[in-house]
Amino acid sequence: MTYIQGETGDWEMVIGLEVHAQVTSKAKLFSGAATAFGAEPNSHVSFVDAAFPGMLPVINGVCVEQAVRTGLGLKAQINPVSVFDRKNYFYADLPAGYQISQYLQPIVGKGEIVLDLPDGSSRTVGITRLHLEMDAGKSMHDQHPSKTYVDLNRSGVALMEIVSEPDMRTAEEAGAYVRKLRTILRYLGTCDGNMEEGSLRCDCNVSVRRPGQPFGTRCEIKNVNSVRFVQQAIEYEARRQIEVIEEGGTIRQETRLWDTAKGVTRSMRSKEEAHDYRYFPDPDLLPLVLDPDWIESIRTTLPELPDDKKQRFITDYKLSLYDAGVLVAEQARADFFEAVAKGRDAKLASNWVNGDFFGALNKAGKDIQDSPVSAEALGGLIDLISDNTISGRIAKEVFEEMFATGQPAAGIVEAKGLRQVTDTGAIETAIAAVMAKNADKVAEYRSGKDKLFGFFVGQVMKQTGGKANPALVNEILRAKLAAG
Ligand code: ADP
Ligand code: MG
Repeated sequence: MTYIQGETGDWEMVIGLEVHAQVTSKAKLFSGAATAFGAEPNSHVSFVDAAFPGMLPVINGVCVEQAVRTGLGLKAQINPVSVFDRKNYFYADLPAGYQISQYLQPIVGKGEIVLDLPDGSSRTVGITRLHLEMDAGKSMHDQHPSKTYVDLNRSGVALMEIVSEPDMRTAEEAGAYVRKLRTILRYLGTCDGNMEEGSLRCDCNVSVRRPGQPFGTRCEIKNVNSVRFVQQAIEYEARRQIEVIEEGGTIRQETRLWDTAKGVTRSMRSKEEAHDYRYFPDPDLLPLVLDPDWIESIRTTLPELPDDKKQRFITDYKLSLYDAGVLVAEQARADFFEAVAKGRDAKLASNWVNGDFFGALNKAGKDIQDSPVSAEALGGLIDLISDNTISGRIAKEVFEEMFATGQPAAGIVEAKGLRQVTDTGAIETAIAAVMAKNADKVAEYRSGKDKLFGFFVGQVMKQTGGKANPALVNEILRAKLAAG
């Protein structure tokens, strides 16, 4: 267990997350208006989204299917009957005066997510529910000195609110949860997971307690929009609560905001000021009744999900838990690896994909799709290592050239004369030259200073421009040095 040390002893965090994930769909939840990001303000607004009198919402079947798909991907209970409710509140960016959401009867019930923790261990976190709801519009405060503008493009866009059980105990686990959830949503194709564009937002519920004691009072930090901020906000909030309690105070249940600039959470409203939403079933919408056969037909279209893929990579390719975990975190990365590994040494393929390949992509700020080196080209490089045409060390140099120029490995090796020297005669000549130049060191070695062996290997490699086959160098050098 990871406890936080306070002035008066150990404390434990309790964390539950509510994630808002924008459903991937062309049209909104209850209208045919487009959902595209970045459009001119108020250019994707139907009469329904603007809440003109008498307009009626019509449920978008694609959004329902996406919610079911997500529920199945979270191994969750799909509820055959669910109900849309009105959540009533007044705000300028909410023209109807209510948001359509699901309250007592959500479309998806209990499920689970397996977290992959940095130490290689895993931990299961319960999903309480997933419900569908519409997004509100956006108030724009920075367009005019004295006025606020309202953009209704987001009004009516479908969101899935995914609520976890209070099962997490560290900020790190909360970060792993958001990352894993995002990975699963992306595999399923139900949310693009883009936190910068607001497609995925996280409300963090945090409380602290003495180890073994009942849960404490929680505070909720609203709308945190990156994994790093989720962890920082939770860490800060838990320490704040511990300090309050240790100084004799009590925690009031409240909603707080994460101030990214100052790195602190600030009170937004207390429970007493909280809205009374007066939920009631929306009379414009019938209960949502799902056909069990339809649910099963969606199940058959689910992709292989990250946990299963990871297990398969470990079993079939004999990869370590860590390597497999890194590869499956992104579907494109896993696919790339499989294309490289096909018919080749999988461990070598995984080392190259996770090592030099991703290192170079990160450095260049590129995605796999824009990589100048294709899976086929990287495979070609690995083939040259496997058949001893080049050494692993030279391969790194070749790879850099491939990445910079987009040329295939074989061409670079020929053009630059990088073929590995496996000609024993040439290696013997190089060794003889090195030994002649370092007669004093040879004598030292022969009188028992074994450690000098590495020095000789280095010199011979230098003499051959790094091209000598290392295994041959070792073998011949050992024999020549011994024969005194
Ligand atoms: P509400 O309906 O007020 O939003 P919920 O019971 O739905 O409350 O809980 C909201 C979130 O708060 C859930 O993710 C849940 O896991 C989490 N949560 C509940 N109790 C606690 C607690 N004592 N400490 C931390 N998180 C909690
Ligand atoms: Mg809630």
